[in-house]
Amino acid sequence: MIEEKLAKDQIRRLSGLSFFPKDTKAVHELVLALMVCEKDSQAMRVITDIIENSPECPAPAVIRGMSYDRVETERAAKVQPIRRAAHCPQCQDRGFFGGHLPGTKNAGPWEWCDCAAAREERRLYPNLVDDANRAREKLIARFPGARSMGEMVNTLAKRQEVEPYHGAW
Ligand SMILES: [Zn+2]
Repeated sequence: MIEEKLAKDQIRRLSGLSFFPKDTKAVHELVLALMVCEKDSQAMRVITDIIENSPECPAPAVIRGMSYDRVETERAAKVQPIRRAAHCPQCQDRGFFGGHLPGTKNAGPWEWCDCAAAREERRLYPNLVDDANRAREKLIARFPGARSMGEMVNTLAKRQEVEPYHGAW
């Protein structure tokens, strides 16, 4: 909560807008609504946003809602985790590496790494590498000679051109 005096000063900035209440009690409701801000800067920002975007003085509920939004937005921005750099040069902390297609450099199946990230990943998803290799083998069988996903997609597009679907439906 911010102090009443500051909230009052800020609310007074709205006095030039249409429908600004003439009644002191009604003005006080606006002041109370703005007081849910946690910092003076938030209250100023809310009032500035109103002045810049609205010809009319909003209802207390609107000011309260905007104030909560501002507080929440700043809180969320503060708890954003800082992305750390990956520790493992082999897998970039994904826990596995490889999977390059035949005909490319370092061709071979997916493999578990032996770093800490890999141990954690393997504990959570023990079948990950096996599943990835099954999918890889299916792709290789379906698109022999393709060296990238892009080439596979192109092959697929060409096949569909020359072999339109002749299904029963
Ligand atoms: Zn690793």
